[in-house]
This record gives sequence, C-alpha cells and structure tokens, in this order.
Amino acid sequence: MTNKPLVAITGASSGIGEATARAFSTAGHPVLMMARRIEKMQAMGLPNSMCRKVDVLSRDEINAAVADAEAAYGPVDMMFANAGVARLADIGRQPPQEWDEMIDINTKGVMNTVKSVMNGMMERKTGTVVMMSSIAGRKVYPDHTVYCGTKYFVHAVSESLREYLSDYNVRVLVLSPGVIETEVLSGVLDEETLANYKENKVKMGGGIGADIVAGLILNAYQLPQNALVQEICITPTRQKF
Ligand code: NDP
Repeated sequence: MTNKPLVAITGASSGIGEATARAFSTAGHPVLMMARRIEKMQAMGLPNSMCRKVDVLSRDEINAAVADAEAAYGPVDMMFANAGVARLADIGRQPPQEWDEMIDINTKGVMNTVKSVMNGMMERKTGTVVMMSSIAGRKVYPDHTVYCGTKYFVHAVSESLREYLSDYNVRVLVLSPGVIETEVLSGVLDEETLANYKENKVKMGGGIGADIVAGLILNAYQLPQNALVQEICITPTRQKF
C-alpha cells in the first residue's frame, strides 16, 4: 500500500493518459484509470490501481468510478481530464457527425470529468485539476477548425475555473501540447488531412514522447500546493507553428 494521494486520469488507455498513469504510479500514487478500452488499462498491471470502463459522456459512469476509487484509496487529489479525440478534416467536406463527437468528448466530457471531483476539492480546500487542451487551443490550424474550437473552449473554461477555484486553494493547470507520439491520428479519417499532417510531422523530425509530457505533469503536481504552473505548452523544438 501507499500513503500518497489518489490521482485519477481519463483517457488512460493510451497515449498521454497512459504515460501519465505510469509516471504517477512509479511515483507511488494509487491511480484511477478511466477509458472505454478497459482491457488496455488492465494489461498495464499497475499496482494500487483501479481500471474502470468509462465513457466521459456519462456523468454517472465517471461519478461511480470516482466514488469507488475514493472508497478504496481516499479522496482524488489530482484529476487529469485528458480524454479527447481529433477528427481533423477539411471543414468543407467534414461530416457534421465528426463535429458532434469532438464537441461532446473534448468539451462536455472534460466538464463532466472536472465536476466529478471539483466540489470535494473545494470542501477539502486542496486538489489539482489538469485540463487537456492543445497548442490548437492557442492558435488555429488548417483542417483543425472544430478541434480548435473544442480546445479554445478548454482554455477559456480552465482560466475561468482557475480564478474561481483559487479561493478554495485548488490548482487548475491547462496543458497545451504540440505534436506528441500517441494513437491520436487514428481518429483522423480524412485521408488528405492525414497525409498533410504526417508530412508536416516528418518535416519537424517527428513528435515527442508522451512520457515527456507525463513527466512535466508530475513535476508540476509535485510543487507545493501554494505554487501553480498555470499552463504547460510543450512542442517539438522543430515544430514551427
Ligand atoms: P490517444 O488517442 O492515444 O488517447 C486518447 C484517449 O482518450 C484514449 O485513452 C481514449 O480511450 C480516450 N477517450 C476518447 N474518447 C473517450 C470517451 N468518450 N470516453 C473515455 N475516454 C475516451 O491520444 P492522445 O494521448 O494524444 O490524446 C489525449 C489528449 O491529448 C486528447 O484530448 C488530445 O486532444 C490531446 N492532445 C494530443 C496531442 C497529440 O499530438 N497527441 C496534442 C495536443 C493535445 P478509449 O478509446 O479506450 O476510450
């Protein structure tokens, strides 16, 4: 067993979420891992972990997973609202169903996730919320129209929450990565967009490892509670835009 506090992560079945689960577990934290592909999380075999099949669109599923993990390990001290999809495409030919999916998962899913722990953190007057945006939440890119919209949403809401939760000694960090090597491109169904993205990625020497992002989150979390890294913006050095 461990006496370090519980951390919870959505989208823990791959990419940045998986890397962050591994980093916090290695640092001795119990971890609540949430995603739809439960078998991928179980296969990680992390000690002191709970894997839950959760769709972030379901408030009931998130709340139940948090309640069960808190009963086992105590209150969630950090929530990483990470789950997201990138259906990148030329906006003129993109099926609107792809907008629906991005808007639902990347915005409402993030809010559902934050809400599941926010009031408890306010009562305890401590806690950390990490909200996954993107460098595409700071500037727009071709073929990223609605994706950028969802990430601008996260930037706006996280800044508002940061101000609101500062009165409760709760930290809010917004994360803005550039190109990171994960499964995210599996969500890009538009072939021309995918080809352009991959060509651009080769030009910048490839994306950087998800473990680097995870290490930054852990470092920011490990600062004293009265010190907040408000935003982490991390890109490959050769990513120009
Ligand atoms: P991955 O595709 O590897 O990971 C996405 C994760 O989100 C998976 O674990 C997936 O799990 C989960 N997920 C998706 N939809 C849902 C849902 N409805 N409910 C629960 N979980 C869900 O990509 P990344 O690690 O790259 O993506 C993580 C976040 O990082 C996303 O928000 C993405 O927008 C953001 N990001 C990524 C960048 C990159 O270059 N990779 C750059 C900037 C931001 P499952 O399918 O099992 O449910």
